Amino acid sequence: MRASRTAFRLSVVLSATLTLGVAATQAPPPQPAAAPSLHARGVRRLVIKNAMVIYGSGRPPFGPVDIGVEDGRISYIGSPAGRFTSGADAVIDATGKYVMPGIVNTHMHWHEERQPGIPQPIQYERNLYLAAGVTTAREVGGDFDKSKRWQAESNAHTIISPRILVYPVVNKGRIGSPDEIRTWVREIHQRGADGLKLITLDRDQVEAALTEAKRLGLRTTTHIGVEETTAADYIELGVSSIEHFYGVADAALAGVQNFPPDMNYNDEVHRFGRAAELYAQADPEKLRQVIDLMVEKHVGWSPTFSIYEASRDLVRAQNQPWFRDYLHPSMEAFFKPSLDNHGSYFLGWTSTQENNWRRQFRVWMDAVRDFGRKGGLITTGDDAGYIYSLYGFGIARELELHEEAGFHPLEVIEHATWNGARMLGLDDRLGKVREGFVADLLVVNGNPLENLKVLSPAGADVMLINGRPVSNYTRGGTGETPQAGRGGGIEWTIKDGIPYHVPTLLQETRNLVAQARSRNRTTTP
Ligand SMILES: [Zn+2]
Repeated sequence: MRASRTAFRLSVVLSATLTLGVAATQAPPPQPAAAPSLHARGVRRLVIKNAMVIYGSGRPPFGPVDIGVEDGRISYIGSPAGRFTSGADAVIDATGKYVMPGIVNTHMHWHEERQPGIPQPIQYERNLYLAAGVTTAREVGGDFDKSKRWQAESNAHTIISPRILVYPVVNKGRIGSPDEIRTWVREIHQRGADGLKLITLDRDQVEAALTEAKRLGLRTTTHIGVEETTAADYIELGVSSIEHFYGVADAALAGVQNFPPDMNYNDEVHRFGRAAELYAQADPEKLRQVIDLMVEKHVGWSPTFSIYEASRDLVRAQNQPWFRDYLHPSMEAFFKPSLDNHGSYFLGWTSTQENNWRRQFRVWMDAVRDFGRKGGLITTGDDAGYIYSLYGFGIARELELHEEAGFHPLEVIEHATWNGARMLGLDDRLGKVREGFVADLLVVNGNPLENLKVLSPAGADVMLINGRPVSNYTRGGTGETPQAGRGGGIEWTIKDGIPYHVPTLLQETRNLVAQARSRNRTTTP
């Protein structure tokens, strides 16, 4: 195929920012004009002009440069790109914007329903993840056959979706014998599993699953829970990575968990309430040794801080401003306090429970920072769809919480991009803005190193002088009054070289929510 005769330029640059800029915090989201013709359309030669680049692996930002994309791969980074611009099928002007690799969400689940009886169209979740810059999603437990189908459709670009990796849960649970587990691992490998997630197993079962997975070259991750086993067992037996906080503090206890006698692990209030006490119970020196062992054995960590945030600050979680436009009624119903819905355990949640969780976050975040400082592989996952965490918004919040844990924003972006690619074994093609790599790129309104909130689908608060977003350390001249406004947001999420216009995706998502609300006659939150 020859280069198109009609190269065209998109002047979405400042117009979108300025439209966002004048809206007050609670004003309705901006209505984008008709979707740009480049939205969701494959082009052979795409040029992103005049971009500042955040590379992915922690090296300082650089630019402005032009980025050439050919047949889904990054083929040129430099300036100027005369030979590309003249033959380009499309140009995205990134003047004043930052370009970074697409985000790898290492812990997520696809949901077509949260509350039984209220279907939730899968495009809702796909759009929100793409709008948050997620170009690769690792599903750790879901409907295996369906997710494999969506994976193939995503790879073939017949659906609008992040790239999908499928890590099914070892489904024999505690009833499976080690032999049965080994057989199951072989079968699911043959059916195309990209890796495995281990949960709720005893030590002999963990050993069977991990040794068989290793023999087949399958990566593994684990949600350890409060179990017979701790992180020490998984590290010793060769797991690739650990999810959440579970099992790590448990490996640093003097004896078993010090729970009161009425503890009932099947009761979610008990489970999530008492789990907050574990890091405070851990012996600090022993905890450091567990962290050292994780680093030494190359066990990665996807902490998923954001999914536990409601436990330390319930009012914040229940009143996220974007619920008004983006909370699907199926999820709204599912989030209502109830012991029947996983993660909806907020019945009489107390100040003590919140404060236990705050203390837990402090010790846990310090442990994750210690792990990172020693060279441990940290990634970002959101586990959204539970506990007041909304797809996309959850991963954006996850990045902020990695900063809270003590990481520089450049390191946070490394967690979200390059480290994710390494954990998934895709580091020969994903996670960096590098020539020859897959063109998974985000064109961001603003600088995420200045404010990670610009990566949120809701955008960020900005200070405006003369209608232009500026750093809030800036002071205008005489007669220039700073104003509060909204800005930021990702403008384009590019996956495999195909650009998706984020304001268009978000408009579609708001429409899906509005339609579902009128059908289900729920109240607007
Ligand atoms: Zn999960």
